[in-house]
This record gives sequence, structure tokens and C-alpha cells, in this order.
Amino acid sequence: MDSLINSIPSLLEGTSLADPLSGLLHIYRRIDEAQQRWIEASPFRCPSACGECCKTFEPSILEIEALFLASWIVREHSASQSYYAADRAGCVYHNPSGTYQCTVYPARPLICRLFAFSGDRGKKNTIRYKPCKCMKHVEHRTMEEDELYQRYGTIPPAMADLAREADCLLPDSAGITVPLREALPSAMNKIRFLLHLNGHSFPDSSHNPDDDAPPFPRAS
Ligand code: SF4
Ligand code: SF4
Repeated sequence: MDSLINSIPSLLEGTSLADPLSGLLHIYRRIDEAQQRWIEASPFRCPSACGECCKTFEPSILEIEALFLASWIVREHSASQSYYAADRAGCVYHNPSGTYQCTVYPARPLICRLFAFSGDRGKKNTIRYKPCKCMKHVEHRTMEEDELYQRYGTIPPAMADLAREADCLLPDSAGITVPLREALPSAMNKIRFLLHLNGHSFPDSSHNPDDDAPPFPRAS
């Protein structure tokens, strides 16, 4: 996981956001670990340079996700704001001509982490999985938990379980999600204010988003 991400909770130490941000970081780490296991065991991969999901989709996010993303952008990655395309129909942080198309990849929201590499819960409360329709050379049908274990020896993480955990981190805004481009401005202002109170400056980052890990697991 990107080392800049790990530093976010400590930047806001002593504020009311330190624990919720730490909680979200912990959830993001668990997602990474569970997906790593799933990706290694299964044949499901995004085709190279696909990004179809970001072209047409703008995530609606919880306040804590917006604050996490804002912390990363404000403190560590201000250069990425040049990739912000407010008039884009899909996600404002999608740069189709970038080497890696998500320009906020290390701090991307929960849904972006989980989409295509997580399952949902069926009637029996067991986990089901259906690959993204843009994945190639795989069957596009829903597989139940028994079949997943039989075929791959493991199951993907359950999207709803992790989303519920994240929703509990800031009780005052629980259950409220807002489109990313609407959530970011106030989150950035709040983070700038708190970082300033905590004595942090806001360096112009020379960090290049293309230096980060690729946004989607690649076809092997
Ligand atoms: S999840 Fe992967 S395969 Fe599906 S549209 Fe997004 S990048 Fe393409
Ligand atoms: S935040 Fe990144 S991964 Fe999520 S929709 Fe936007 S460009 Fe895609």
C-alpha cells in the first residue's frame, strides 16, 4: 500500500478525524489483502488500459471517504488537482490518457477498491461473485460461494460488509453518500483547516501519479 496513505491518520492526530481515518485505512488494508488473495487464486483480470468503469461512473462517497481522499490530495498530492476534470461525464479524477487512468489511485474510494473484485451476499447470506462484463475470456455468470470455494479455494471480500463498517466511522453522517465532485470541495476545506491547526504546510507536490501502482490488476 502507498506509504503516503499510511501517514494520513497521524497528520490529523489530536483531531476528531484521526480515529475515523485510521479506521478507514484499516478497512482499505483489509480490502487490499483480501483482493490480493482473490486475484492470485482466480482468473479474473481487467484488460490492460480498460478503465470503462471510470469513464461512465462517478462514485458517491461517504464523508469519511471524501476526507481521506482530500487529506491525500491536499497534503501529499496537490499536483493531481491538474487532473481534475469538472466537466467530465464520468469520474472527475479519470484521466483516460494517463499511463494509469485513476489519478487518485492510492486514496480512491471504497467502491473503486471493491468493484469487480468483490462479491455480494445472496438470499442465504453467502457470498456470490459475477465478473465485470468487460473482463475477457471468463464466463459472465454469477457463481455461488460453494462453487467459488470449489473452483478457487477462496472467495472475494463482500462489498456490503466493508461498506457497512466504513459507514459506522462517522456516525453523524452515516448513510449519507454524495457524488465525489460535490463531496470533495468541503472535505478539502476541512482538511486544509485541520492540517493548518496541526501545524502542517501544504507543499506543492512534484509527485507524479504515474509513479504509483497501476489502478487495476492487469491481465497477466
Ligand atoms: S472493472 Fe476492470 S474490466 Fe471492468 S470496466 Fe473497470 S477496468 Fe474494465
Ligand atoms: S476515483 Fe479513480 S477508480 Fe474511482 S471512479 Fe474515479 S478514476 Fe475511477
